Amino acid sequence: MTTHTFDVVVLGGGSGGYAAALRASELGKSVALVEKDKVGGTCLHRGCIPTKALLHAAEVAEHVRDAASVGVTATLDGIDPAGVRAYREGIVAKKFKGLEGLVKARGITTVAGFGRLNADRSISVGDDVYVGADVVLATGSYSRSLPGLEIGGRILTSEQALALDVIPERVLVLGGGVIGVEFASVWRSFGSEVTIVEALPHLVPNEDIAMSKGLERAFRRRGIQYSLGVRFQTASQDENSVTVTLEDGKEFTADYLLVAVGRGPVTADLGFEEAGVKLDRGFVTVDQDLRTGVPGVWAVGDIVPGLQLAHRGFQQGIAVAERIAGLSPVNVPDSQIPKVTYSSPEVASVGVTEDAAVTEHGADAVASYEYNLAGNGKSEIIGTSGLVKVVRLKDGPVIGVHLLGDRVGELITEGQLAVAWEAHPEDIAPLIHAHPTQSEALGEAFLALAGKPLHAL
Ligand SMILES: Cc1cc2nc3c(=O)[nH]c(=O)nc-3n(C[C@H](O)[C@H](O)[C@H](O)COP(=O)(O)OP(=O)(O)OC[C@H]3O[C@@H](n4cnc5c(N)ncnc54)[C@H](O)[C@@H]3O)c2cc1C
Repeated sequence: MTTHTFDVVVLGGGSGGYAAALRASELGKSVALVEKDKVGGTCLHRGCIPTKALLHAAEVAEHVRDAASVGVTATLDGIDPAGVRAYREGIVAKKFKGLEGLVKARGITTVAGFGRLNADRSISVGDDVYVGADVVLATGSYSRSLPGLEIGGRILTSEQALALDVIPERVLVLGGGVIGVEFASVWRSFGSEVTIVEALPHLVPNEDIAMSKGLERAFRRRGIQYSLGVRFQTASQDENSVTVTLEDGKEFTADYLLVAVGRGPVTADLGFEEAGVKLDRGFVTVDQDLRTGVPGVWAVGDIVPGLQLAHRGFQQGIAVAERIAGLSPVNVPDSQIPKVTYSSPEVASVGVTEDAAVTEHGADAVASYEYNLAGNGKSEIIGTSGLVKVVRLKDGPVIGVHLLGDRVGELITEGQLAVAWEAHPEDIAPLIHAHPTQSEALGEAFLALAGKPLHAL
């Protein structure tokens, strides 16, 4: 057994873990980063980046399909799965190389192997022991399934769906949250017959109801089918197809079933509880500064209850490294973190929904405004419909911004600034949005809420 001593030992090299490692080394700490697979984690290798590459390929297919509508002569001859794979893998490989170079350049010691937390807070990797004055747990998440629904064969998680080398003729998606909706969007653009099964009454059920309804309308127009409000009961498969039965007896049959019902924390059998780290339904219990109850042991990313997003992991990793170095970074509540669903159309939001605002503050204290993208020149040009919705407290700040439409994910940063800086629409109304941009739609909503609508009533 060899013992290695560092200022900081990080377990898990995904978004949360590598951000903690990078920032800690920048602040002069010696850092070991333990990773059993590849630095970059879920987001880079199986999540954000490869799925957004797929969605871009899907967007290109749609543009070619619709080219005649803008006077361009082109025909979509088909989708080449091997070509899409090469493009997607090329992007991931480039980003991975860049990240590996950065980690090396910062002088971080990468330890390849499976790590376990010991009772004395050290981390074992094989016969080696890594001792850190501080330890950051960042082991991430895995695709969940439902009781009685076994993954395998034609029943896929997002990992297997990404690796699929065929375009399914018919595909079922169990779960109408972010991951399910994004894959449904890709497959439809590639020509599949797609049906989404969601137990709750709406697609993207965590979003403002106006966005869910708008996405449902847009998906219906695209020919994406969905069943809402009825729970899954069973699934069976043979060598040709898979059949899903719902609790009301309805059946759906397709070539494949994607199970996208959420992600669970990777915290079992890693020695966490034996070392005194408290878990709640598998998630690590932390205080507002991301400290576990064990002195010097911190947790970041998807194992911490809340939004499971890469940029939240980055932010938490940075904050923990800074606290370890004696700095006092601000806490960023989940309500200030932007969320984007990158389907066509996209859904983007920050802050609270109108329903949540009314529940918290009462209907009389809340005002909202919806601006339809039909009135926005740039949206008309790129051929997207959609909606901007801003929620404010009456005579008070903006507390929620909700967007629907192609490319609106790029606009959410303005909403985030408004919500996090507690701006009043009156503060933003004099700030001019470039014409013609989609951001003007947001400007119109702020103008209207400030009592001076321009291109609206
Ligand atoms: C299909 C899909 C699409 C997504 N799209 C987006 C998106 O567009 N935007 C967004 O913000 N988020 C997206 N996410 C979510 C995002 O990927 C996660 O929020 C993010 O990766 C969480 O980072 P993390 O560091 O907590 O965990 P992870 O990225 O899961 O990293 C954990 C790392 O720890 C390693 N590890 C685990 N246990 C051990 C051990 N015992 N020893 C050594 N190493 C270990 C793992 O190998 C892994 O590399 C997506 C996720 C999926 C699945």
